[in-house]
Amino acid sequence: LQITLAVIKPHVVKNLFALESIQKRIECEFEVVGIREVVISREMAERFYAEHRSKFFYNRLLSFITSGPSVALILAAENAVSKWRQIMGPTKVYKTIYSEPDTIRGQFGLSDTRNACHGSDAMESALNEINVFFPDFDFE
Ligand code: ATP
Ligand code: MG
Repeated sequence: LQITLAVIKPHVVKNLFALESIQKRIECEFEVVGIREVVISREMAERFYAEHRSKFFYNRLLSFITSGPSVALILAAENAVSKWRQIMGPTKVYKTIYSEPDTIRGQFGLSDTRNACHGSDAMESALNEINVFFPDFDFE
């Protein structure tokens, strides 16, 4: 069994319908081994998005992700990393809306920044990202 980090972004957490629909979908496909509602601080966001420091969208991304509560989850399943990324859909909303409307980003993404959710892109980043959100998590 593999674990991954999922983050439901602030505009979705404000939308009870969207949040419940995503949570139901998650519960069908994964075992939830950690869940936490968190207002991401500037410091956490800088650690979490360190690889994007030089991107043109970095400031926009940080002010969005710190703008209100997010929900972070540790999800377990076989191939959890790629499974969750498949359910999320592509980063860019214009792609999801036409080609993958049933993905979470296809349903609830508003823009390339406000794309509804995050998922770790590899096992190694999953472990680092879980550390940012769940510093006490026991990987055993
Ligand atoms: P991957 O890790 O496979 O590249 P991702 O969905 O994690 O895909 P990243 O490229 O890591 O996306 O970007 C991190 C976040 O930055 C995205 O989820 C999105 O919120 C934001 N972002 C990415 N690209 C853009 C862009 N072109 N314009 C605005 N915001 C963007
Ligand atoms: Mg990424």
